[in-house]
Amino acid sequence: MTKNDLHDYVASVKDYPEEGVTFRDISPLMGNGAAYREAIDQIKDFAKDLNVDLIAGPESRGFIVGSPLAYTLGVGFVPARKVGKLPRKAVSASYTLEYGGVNELEIHEDAIKPGQRVLIVDDLLATGGTINATRKIIEELGGVVAGVAFIIELEALQGREKIMQAGEVPFLALMEY
Ligand code: IMP
Repeated sequence: MTKNDLHDYVASVKDYPEEGVTFRDISPLMGNGAAYREAIDQIKDFAKDLNVDLIAGPESRGFIVGSPLAYTLGVGFVPARKVGKLPRKAVSASYTLEYGGVNELEIHEDAIKPGQRVLIVDDLLATGGTINATRKIIEELGGVVAGVAFIIELEALQGREKIMQAGEVPFLALMEY
């Protein structure tokens, strides 16, 4: 299994969730043991020089990328949850969605200690709103964003530029569309 082979495990769905949009679905990648492992191993290689203390991922596909990565690196995982789901005091940030509307994510305020280095991961980078909201919370808690990593980057939406505008950080996308 190589980097190029991973493309075979992305299903492209035309006109979903609305006309004119092609949705990139990583379900086949997650559903194949070799492909899933290859994707996580590639992100692990990227992470190994970043001195990472924690992995953070937004609900819900960020959990699917972040949990096995945290396990294999031997570091903790911090979920950025959709608002209203966390039982204790949390810090939140809102962002606009790619297809319209507003969403809000939150992280428990004791999940990240000042100075901890956090790698943010998600399945896919589109406009960058999700990741920048996650980043904002992490930085508000005193964490340092050690890098950002995705299985897929939708290049035309310029999410990478939006991330870098908030401050340059190491970046990885396993596939570009
Ligand atoms: P952004 O906030 O615009 O960067 O959107 C990224 C978020 O929306 C990620 O959490 C993705 O899971 C989800 N998303 C947006 N477009 C797609 C897609 O084409 N396939 C899968 N997930 C998507």
